[in-house]
Amino acid sequence: MDKPRITIAIDGFSSCGKSTMAKALARHIGYIYIDSGAMYRAVTLYCLDHGLIDGDTVNTTALLPLMNDIQIDFRPDARSGKTHTFLNGRDVEQEIRSMRVSDKVSPVSAIPFVRTAMVAAQQKMGERKGIVMDGRDIGTTVFPHAELKIFVTASAETRAQRRVDELRAKGVEVDFDEVVANINKRDHIDQTRKESPLRKADDAILLDNSHMTIEAQDKWLIDRYEETIKKLQY
Ligand code: C5P
Repeated sequence: MDKPRITIAIDGFSSCGKSTMAKALARHIGYIYIDSGAMYRAVTLYCLDHGLIDGDTVNTTALLPLMNDIQIDFRPDARSGKTHTFLNGRDVEQEIRSMRVSDKVSPVSAIPFVRTAMVAAQQKMGERKGIVMDGRDIGTTVFPHAELKIFVTASAETRAQRRVDELRAKGVEVDFDEVVANINKRDHIDQTRKESPLRKADDAILLDNSHMTIEAQDKWLIDRYEETIKKLQY
């Protein structure tokens, strides 16, 4: 019997390894992987490039009519084969991971019309199922009927260290304390915003991966996927 194609939602706090596990699962089961955070980061980069952010305040009056000008898509990089984020035809994969963008992404993500546009685009990408998407509101708002929902968390220090390691591996020098402060600030804004705040869906499975290796976490997720498929088949 063919396995049913399902929707998999992976939500959780900043830098807790969601994308690593989501990508590995998608590769393993031949699903599409979508990093919804990259979309909010791309909108933030657009705002910065157009001078629409002052401190933590976004000029929403100027941004609203420009929303239709923001085209975000994901394409495989010819050299690495990895998926890169494109903003209006430009490869912005590296730029959207910078501290300059990380620092402003949560205020931008809290704007209701930005969320409406991103959620609509994400739902379209998931229309045919067979998708693993990670973010903050995937199991609650984007795909409330996803067959498998995971909510990931890890201690703040573990998350900051992972983020520092990730940035350093890309040759970006960062200050540990600055990264901790950024993670705490983003978590606070993400959890307290009015529009789809970060929260665990009632039917999501909680995973604290503070003390798990990447291999153990990948296996844990594949087991949850297999379990879900079995339940659907019988
Ligand atoms: O996942 P990542 O850390 O790259 O996400 C960056 C930011 O984008 C988050 O801190 C959050 O403010 C926002 N975001 C969101 N909803 C999502 C994904 C990300 O609000 N589904």
